[in-house]
Amino acid sequence: MSTRNTHAVIIGGGIAGPALALFLKKAGLTATVYEAYSRSDSIGGGLQLAPNGMNILEALGLSERIRTKGTLATEMGFQNHRGTKLARFPNGRVEKYGQSAVTLPRAVVHETLRDELERQGVRMEYQKRLTALSYEGQEVVAHFEDGTSARGDFLVGADGIRSRTRELLLPEGPKLFYSGLIGLGGFVPESQVPGWRAEDRSCLQMTLGRGGFFGYCGGGEGRVMWWSNLPRAEELTREELATLSTEELRKTLLTVHAGWPAPIEALLTQSQDIVRTNIHDVGLLPKWHRGRVVLIGDAAHAMSPNTGQGASVALEDSMYLASLLRGEAAVDLEQVFARFERDRRPRVERLILEGRRMGDQKKMLSPFACWLRDRFLSVMFSLMGERMNDWQFKYRVAWD
Ligand SMILES: Cc1cc2nc3c(=O)[nH]c(=O)nc-3n(C[C@H](O)[C@H](O)[C@H](O)COP(=O)(O)OP(=O)(O)OC[C@H]3O[C@@H](n4cnc5c(N)ncnc54)[C@H](O)[C@@H]3O)c2cc1C
Repeated sequence: MSTRNTHAVIIGGGIAGPALALFLKKAGLTATVYEAYSRSDSIGGGLQLAPNGMNILEALGLSERIRTKGTLATEMGFQNHRGTKLARFPNGRVEKYGQSAVTLPRAVVHETLRDELERQGVRMEYQKRLTALSYEGQEVVAHFEDGTSARGDFLVGADGIRSRTRELLLPEGPKLFYSGLIGLGGFVPESQVPGWRAEDRSCLQMTLGRGGFFGYCGGGEGRVMWWSNLPRAEELTREELATLSTEELRKTLLTVHAGWPAPIEALLTQSQDIVRTNIHDVGLLPKWHRGRVVLIGDAAHAMSPNTGQGASVALEDSMYLASLLRGEAAVDLEQVFARFERDRRPRVERLILEGRRMGDQKKMLSPFACWLRDRFLSVMFSLMGERMNDWQFKYRVAWD
């Protein structure tokens, strides 16, 4: 099969989907992205793009745009809820990894990718929710909730942690499960945070308590971004997610984080909106592809947010899959998808397990377990520091 005129149907216009469409264009294929929501829908809180993810955006010519709208997160600090400093070390130096980590609103990443699709004339259709798949000859047909359909030579499920493509591909496969933590977050103008200094922006400051966790750092364009993980036995229902008021959430957060070091209380008090989500996980998938359909990003390997790597590895997937589909290599789609899975699986599964381990440290701990965790972290960080993240940050996808 020649890759010329090969057309991809991409389900999901979050991070992996648009990035894949852009890389496929570079590879000489065509693609259309189908997104369930409308373009204007609000899309939540803040995000760290790690150096490995920023290197992928650099390959798309987008890293500068992202950097100017975000904050360079060059350091990482850990403390406990009493304010005892546990460690501070570089968060991936640009000299070492080619790019710095950047923190910014998730919406900015979406806008940047979507604007670039438009600039390059790559189609993205909104309000197209995948419901079913069928096969006609050598083509895959995607069927949408509005009764329309789209066909292509192959289909990529980049439809996130609740992937419909995954359900259709692996009906007996692992299901989504609640991780025992809820995620909350928001943004506050720097001018409203007493004592905030310009040098505070670049440090991802993590505070670990007996139950729960609080992080903050610069979020680009004069904002401070914060996020909190709270242990909760039951996940929030759909109704609670929709109806819980900012004031109720603020009250809960102020109670859980009472007495934690400044500026945590000020961030909670000054936040206009508080985004909320259940943190979910999915068991390891037995397979990421079947026939002419393949999964990438969270659809293939959802990971808890604890590692701050989900978006970056979704970007890596996009670039690597497109690199395999270029030119002569793409003789057999099933072979390409099998190679994609084989090469990507070890890295992402290591991150999934790492994310779960980190999540367990944010759940309710006894005072002794808390003391032990603090000792362990300060020794480990002082021995390892930045080297600990080396394997995550130094990963590169070859294109040329
Ligand atoms: C609270 C929280 C904090 C996080 N923080 C970080 C962080 O700091 N750094 C980091 O790297 N990662 C972080 N992550 C993880 C990161 O958000 C994901 O790993 C990343 O968004 C995955 O990209 P994706 O494109 O695979 O999926 P998504 O970004 O979820 O995109 C999937 C898209 O598919 C669309 N879609 C869904 N179903 C359908 C359908 N049936 N038909 C059509 N379209 C559909 C969705 O609307 C969405 O636009 C965090 C996650 C959470 C929950």
